[in-house]
Amino acid sequence: MEKNKKIVLIILIIIIVLILLSSLFCLLNIPKITLKDKQEIELIYPEKYKEPGYKAKTVIKNLTKKVKINGKVNNNKIGTYKITYQIKNLFFTSEITRIIKVIDNEKPVITLKGNEEAIVCPNTTYREEGYEVTDNYNKDLNDKVDIINNQNEIIYSVKDESGNEGKITRTIKYEDKNKPDLKLKSGNITIYVGNTYKEPGYTASDKCDGDITKNVKVTGSVNNKKTGTYTLTYTVKDNAGNETKTTRKVTVKNKVTTKKSTTTKSTTSTNSLVYATSSCSAKGAIYLTFDDGPQASTTTKILNTLKEEGIKATFFVTNSGADSLISREYTEGHSIGLHTASHTYSKVYASDDAFFNDLKKVSDRVKRITGIESKIIRFPGGSSNTVSRHYSSKIMTRLTKEVVNRGYKYYDWNVDSDDAGSCRTAKCVYNNVTSSLSKNKCNMVLMHDVKSYTAEALKDVIEYGKSHGYTFKKIDSSTPMVRHKVNN
Ligand code: ZN
Repeated sequence: MEKNKKIVLIILIIIIVLILLSSLFCLLNIPKITLKDKQEIELIYPEKYKEPGYKAKTVIKNLTKKVKINGKVNNNKIGTYKITYQIKNLFFTSEITRIIKVIDNEKPVITLKGNEEAIVCPNTTYREEGYEVTDNYNKDLNDKVDIINNQNEIIYSVKDESGNEGKITRTIKYEDKNKPDLKLKSGNITIYVGNTYKEPGYTASDKCDGDITKNVKVTGSVNNKKTGTYTLTYTVKDNAGNETKTTRKVTVKNKVTTKKSTTTKSTTSTNSLVYATSSCSAKGAIYLTFDDGPQASTTTKILNTLKEEGIKATFFVTNSGADSLISREYTEGHSIGLHTASHTYSKVYASDDAFFNDLKKVSDRVKRITGIESKIIRFPGGSSNTVSRHYSSKIMTRLTKEVVNRGYKYYDWNVDSDDAGSCRTAKCVYNNVTSSLSKNKCNMVLMHDVKSYTAEALKDVIEYGKSHGYTFKKIDSSTPMVRHKVNN
């Protein structure tokens, strides 16, 4: 019995020793993984995932290099991703998981077409002008916009798939801020003493109220028994009280003078009168023509104004200035006419040959730049010039015929801004041009795109023309010639 007890005790001791040994073995060989940074990471789309690192070891060994990583993060797709880190050592395994959330926290942006503050006519409803949604993540949110339409505001809202909400409000104002449009048929009118004045008529229209011609009130009167200038005032109001006013001047004059068409000064130093004999059919048209350019600063300004106003004009160019300016004139739809290469009267009018040599030089330049052989010309000083008398007798008489024989058309003018003469301010240019315009002729307006005050006056001149019912045209091959009386 004593012996049996001893055996049991020995076995017990062996078992305890074995347990202690195996525990020690485990303690030394079980691996452990630790993660650097957090176990749960948030990435803001489309930020890329960068492994922050990890460590693996047992009490006695570094095992970091033996870690196996499973799982991938798609930073282009919002969602939750898992990455597992696993380490095996002998028959021990250790594993840890990191959670990566790709999230979108950016709101969609709604951009309204039209104004955020829309003004509509009273008693009408706002007609949706549209909107566009942009979002960093969802590309197709346009159809998902919620619209709440209150009387005075429209609220647009939309959510992306992460629930971020974009919102915008359009306010609606019901008012008529626009003045009515009042147009007089014919412009200023001249009648002879004794003839009765007959109102040529007018039309008035309003953006909100439509045709309101019947609301036009005319004040003033014309005494056809007495010479003078009478002013008739036309006034019209729309329902909102916006008023437009315009006037017509009626000149009553004596019937003594024979009926000459418009007279105008020559640009040469002499003051001899010349007569425009135009057979133009586009009555009431304004042909803006610019001579002597191009010149960088002034021509650029003029081209900008023409572009803003949507008007086409004609440039009678020389060999001065940059090619790029002529190129711009041409590509923006204006007509390019030939003026002169040198603009030196003593050279140009020295002889018939000298004139055509000079013309060829500027023609070649235009052809080189635009590819077009221009057949539209303006004589330096006009066909009525007298300066050429100093250099060649009767040269204008010959040239005016010969250019036509050679297939050119030449254009003098019947409205002179006098900007190459004594007129040196924008106001003067404006007054000279607007006071000479008429609905009863084709208005061929002489200006110079090398004059700063002309460039300055142009916008007002165009606006005067537009508001008085004129149309603007450029010279083309179908435009009839406008000719002065030849004086040499
Ligand atoms: Zn000139």
